[in-house]
Amino acid sequence: MVYLYLLATLLFVFGIKRLTSVKTCRQGNRLSELGMFCAVVTVVLIGTNVNWAVVVAGILVGGAAGLLIAKRTPTTQMPEMVAALNGFGGAASALVAMATLLIDDRVQQTGFALGDLGIVPAIAFPATIVVGMVTLTGSFVAYGKLSGKKLSHPLQGAQRHALHAGLGAAAIALAVWMALTGNHVMTTVAVVLLAAAAAVLGVFLVMPIGGADMPVVVSLLNSYSGVAAAFAGFVTREPLLIVTGALVGASGLILTQIMCKAMNRSLGNVLLGGMGEEAVAKDAKDYKSIKSTTPEEVAMLLDAASSVIFVPGYGLAVAQAQHVVRELADLLQKRGCNVRYAIHPVAGRMPGHMNVLLAESDVPYDQLWEMDRINADFKNTDVVIVVGANDVVNPAAREPTGPIAGMPILDVDQARTVIVIKRSLSPGYAGIKNPLFDLDNCLMVFLDAKEALEGMVKEVKELR
Ligand code: NDP
Repeated sequence: MVYLYLLATLLFVFGIKRLTSVKTCRQGNRLSELGMFCAVVTVVLIGTNVNWAVVVAGILVGGAAGLLIAKRTPTTQMPEMVAALNGFGGAASALVAMATLLIDDRVQQTGFALGDLGIVPAIAFPATIVVGMVTLTGSFVAYGKLSGKKLSHPLQGAQRHALHAGLGAAAIALAVWMALTGNHVMTTVAVVLLAAAAAVLGVFLVMPIGGADMPVVVSLLNSYSGVAAAFAGFVTREPLLIVTGALVGASGLILTQIMCKAMNRSLGNVLLGGMGEEAVAKDAKDYKSIKSTTPEEVAMLLDAASSVIFVPGYGLAVAQAQHVVRELADLLQKRGCNVRYAIHPVAGRMPGHMNVLLAESDVPYDQLWEMDRINADFKNTDVVIVVGANDVVNPAAREPTGPIAGMPILDVDQARTVIVIKRSLSPGYAGIKNPLFDLDNCLMVFLDAKEALEGMVKEVKELR
């Protein structure tokens, strides 16, 4: 059986490795699925007193719910789904710890004095409950924020930090009480209070974080769900759960670090700084010299262009314009134009959002250029077409202060002509004005991205 454990672990490790590139990520998913299947079979086969009815019912109900949710969720709501799945992962670990406490022979033999079992269970049980519950409620606050709900923290500054510190101290005290009490009723009370304190803490920790900092929160919560699972592995003495939890915890942390770097923020600054919706500028729609244009005029500009860069953003996902953008790019290439796509690491609403969308329409990988690689080329580019992107091309990030100050951006303003496709002058996710729209070399196409691009395709086809 130990070989099956090893096989599952290897499949997870190689699965994650393959997920790191767009070319191999589908294969990575398949390997990880196989690893999970292998893990479930192994755990069930080595278990004693397995209740097969419960196992089969769990697989059927969970599998059907997962399939239904995944099929029904549009691509634009994937980030919300990821946040929800993180939350469910945390909840599952917390519930495993709570249930194990009540049925585990080891615990009952000590008369519920967890401390008598040694330091590992004494830490693992409360830690699983705390991290699991913080992940559950924090993820659902993130879910609400991603779907556009305004959820602000009731307290500010020092009062807010005092509340969080108080809840953290209460959780530690309850965890110690839970480990030492040695009484069934008291242990149950401690578990319920501990779960409640952690749940409230999760809500308050995520509430003050908003705007452009959400990607970091989502990947951090992903890491928490892994940490909770690893602790649950110590609770159930299940090495495979420790391994998979550690893999998710570590990869979530690495992703968090990448996201922080992409936004030029430290993790501490993101978590404590609390850039909330309050930061929204009042003058976000107050522009002075907007010049709008039509797909027909853009086609004429494209006719004369020898280099074009498309910059996709969240609006591309909303409009589902990934196929038509590819069609336009193909047409331009056939006319001898050098076409590329500039990908900002936090464009869209989840890490890798734009890569996923463009992969869906089979855009060749060598045309996808990361921000660091392409930024120096904008100044030599004839036309940049920004498709439903806003914050990631906002030159206000170069100012020393402001909600997105210091966030690395795509330097589209340096191109000869910038075309911005969006429906209105509404701000992007960070809620701030974009001075790009006022620049002399910027032309706005106020249409839905798909409609605008379809118009350009039609006009380019009609060119000689
Ligand atoms: P933004 O949210 O800044 O801007 C998107 C723009 O798309 C809006 O200004 C909107 O303008 C436009 N838009 C919406 N629907 C359409 C449509 N149908 N057709 C055309 N345009 C449309 O997106 P970016 O991708 O530039 O930036 C991402 C932002 O999201 C960053 O602030 C990032 O930090 C944050 N974020 C990123 C996450 C990630 O992991 N990638 C996760 C969570 C948040 P209008 O309404 O006028 O059309």
